[in-house]
Amino acid sequence: MKEVILCKYGEIVLKGANRSSFESILLKEIKRRARYAGGFDIRYAQSTIYVEPRDEFSDIDEMYEQVKKVFGLASVTRAAVCEKNMEDIIRTAKEYIPEKLRPYKTFRCEAKRSDKHFPLESPEIAAIVGGALLEAVGGNIKVNLKHPDITVRVEVRDQYAYIHAGQENGAGGIPLGCGGRGLLLLSGGIDSPVAGYMMAKRGLFIDALHFESFPYTSERAREKVLTLAKELCEFTGIMRVHIISLTEIQEALRDNCTEDYFTLLLRRCMMELANKVAAEGDYQCLVTGESLGQVASQTMAAIAVTDCVAEIPVLRPCIGLDKEEIVVRSRDIGTYETSILPYEDCCTVFTPRHPKTRPEMEKVLAEEEKFDRSALIEKAWESRYFVTVRQFNNDR
Ligand code: ATP
Ligand code: MG
Repeated sequence: MKEVILCKYGEIVLKGANRSSFESILLKEIKRRARYAGGFDIRYAQSTIYVEPRDEFSDIDEMYEQVKKVFGLASVTRAAVCEKNMEDIIRTAKEYIPEKLRPYKTFRCEAKRSDKHFPLESPEIAAIVGGALLEAVGGNIKVNLKHPDITVRVEVRDQYAYIHAGQENGAGGIPLGCGGRGLLLLSGGIDSPVAGYMMAKRGLFIDALHFESFPYTSERAREKVLTLAKELCEFTGIMRVHIISLTEIQEALRDNCTEDYFTLLLRRCMMELANKVAAEGDYQCLVTGESLGQVASQTMAAIAVTDCVAEIPVLRPCIGLDKEEIVVRSRDIGTYETSILPYEDCCTVFTPRHPKTRPEMEKVLAEEEKFDRSALIEKAWESRYFVTVRQFNNDR
């Protein structure tokens, strides 16, 4: 018996002229992952991508885990392939399906016939296969047409018929890269990796920008951020992490400015540096993990004071999420355990005791006159470098 993976993509995003470019990006991304799962043949037809093992080196368990992380796929399932006749369909169903039904109490069988020349109609196919399965599992499971625990599906397609049970949701969203290029401001915290994931899911290709403040922040803090980037690469494949040092800017703030304004002044410098990285690297937007009201620098007034420095749109997908909701997402995408490692972030160096929650623009500008801001920004800019992180180390 031959087993394949069927990947179905969402209909809505694939309408119109963009359809073929979406499809080719999806295929390329699945092929990239297939190289590391031992080799698969990949083709598509009728809104379905067929992922077929090539030989005994093809690791279908691994490949199934991989396709679940591909943005743009609405559902994924493992399926048995059979010849297009009822005899083979029933034989295969009896061999492949009972094991999958074992954990459940009720099931239903559905059939879909895209080959209209097939001699039986869908309801007949479903009834026959359902009956055969019921007989095969011998009383341990009942049919429930309205609310089954699991649905067995028979799909009669162009070349073959496919049988499967336990279709799962895919990662959803839009194929990576279809939504432009963004620069994620990546700290070591919980929120920014989630923000990056959310935008990547909407098709935005993401690179990252991380600010450090050595020796106030450590080597381990940088390693943590690179680990987070690597975890995001499970979904995005590759990520350039730009790194800029804020040490001298932070020391100048400490030595010259009013403490209450430290964080805001620093964040305005971060935005200005992010503008430069974006211009040089051709990123069309910035992405941050800010959530309204979460900390003093994320009141509406404080956001306004930093936002106006940005020269391109700043996307804040977590803005309306509670911390708990962000935590749930971070566990789901696998970044949480890294995020909670207790290393320092440049935003927690010289933290004011009473940060301004209602800053006034005039005062902010007056504070910025107190140190040689543009020279220090220029110097920080000169300190930039980047590290490229990949899902698979051998990827190009
Ligand atoms: P996070 O959990 O993402 O660190 P946070 O709740 O700690 O967020 P802040 O520290 O105020 O909030 O940071 C708000 C946003 O600013 C972050 O989500 C991130 O996008 C950006 N940011 C903060 N610190 C850094 C840094 N060191 N490098 C790059 N971006 C940063
Ligand atoms: Mg933070």
